[in-house]
Amino acid sequence: MTSENDFSFADRVTKCVLGHYEKCISRRGKPRMEREWTLLAAVVMVKRSDGELNLKTVALGTGTKCIGQSKMSKNGDVLYDSHAEVIARRAFLRFLYHEISLVYNGEESEVFVLPASKAHNQCLLKNNVEFQFFMSSTPCGDASIFPMMPEDTFSRIGEICVNIPSQTNSLEEEQIKQTAEEPVAKKFKTDDGICESSCERLQFPEKDNVKHLTDSSFALAEDIFRTGAKCVPFGKQDTYEPGINYHCINALRIKPGRGDRTLSMSCSDKIARWNFLGCQGALLSHFLFEPIYFKSFIIANCPFSVDAAHRALMGRFETQAESLHLPDGYFMNKPNILQSSLSFADNKNNSKTGNLKENVIPCSTI
Ligand SMILES: [Zn+2]
Repeated sequence: MTSENDFSFADRVTKCVLGHYEKCISRRGKPRMEREWTLLAAVVMVKRSDGELNLKTVALGTGTKCIGQSKMSKNGDVLYDSHAEVIARRAFLRFLYHEISLVYNGEESEVFVLPASKAHNQCLLKNNVEFQFFMSSTPCGDASIFPMMPEDTFSRIGEICVNIPSQTNSLEEEQIKQTAEEPVAKKFKTDDGICESSCERLQFPEKDNVKHLTDSSFALAEDIFRTGAKCVPFGKQDTYEPGINYHCINALRIKPGRGDRTLSMSCSDKIARWNFLGCQGALLSHFLFEPIYFKSFIIANCPFSVDAAHRALMGRFETQAESLHLPDGYFMNKPNILQSSLSFADNKNNSKTGNLKENVIPCSTI
């Protein structure tokens, strides 16, 4: 047990996850050092007791891949979506099933209790238990589209990373331009189906290409971070114009597949669904009195925009939320969105600059 004031909550959760990854995942299950990369996601259970917090990683997943439509199976024997966020959520469901089975077998569960009255026979989450969702990078899709600002304008206030748009002088612009142009050659290698979700820097734009977008930070930026996820058909579509208009925002997106198109929604879209329907899914909901929502989404140290994350994970559906008529117990979850100062060492990018590490490829074993 540690006191809540020891260090920031986001850092504590991140430390808990990274410690679990180091300790419990063998070297064979990790990318080869400096040669491969992967993404990491996890669920951390937080128990509050007498003003203290007890943190425990209860689910963890790594992965970057998603199979295309042609590889899907009607037999239900193929896992389509292996992005870390999705794997971690699947692991979390296994954890919940185990805890539920304890309750129904009359054993003590860390998580659930049955109601004292006989009003129903569904499991209740213990009052002092919360779940936090950790990601080593911004989730693919809408949350990964945000203005590319000079590094010094990504300032931290408390645990939340916010963008403070500012004008840059010409020297700074030149430095940024050089940095941004370096990884261009590697950009489109990833259309082989690996979701290159976040932190990618593409060609720095010509100044004349700066277009007006409604969001003030977009208006001041000259380029944006981009996602490999493609807009679903029959909705808003990306223009792929150079600069800030490359992507549209708020769109539902499909993950890129290995060669052909996938039918899997981007992680931003899947997480947004969890914020309305809970993360437990249909089957587990029969055993639970209420859906399970994550209290926070915590992103490791990497280029990040709290505005984009908020927009992608809940904000873009806010206006429709009232007309959804969700069943009793369901609501629009408004989790905290926090960023940690700690980074994931097996990430693709240099945590400080967001630039690609040199000559690293997605890990083939996970
Ligand atoms: Zn993803």
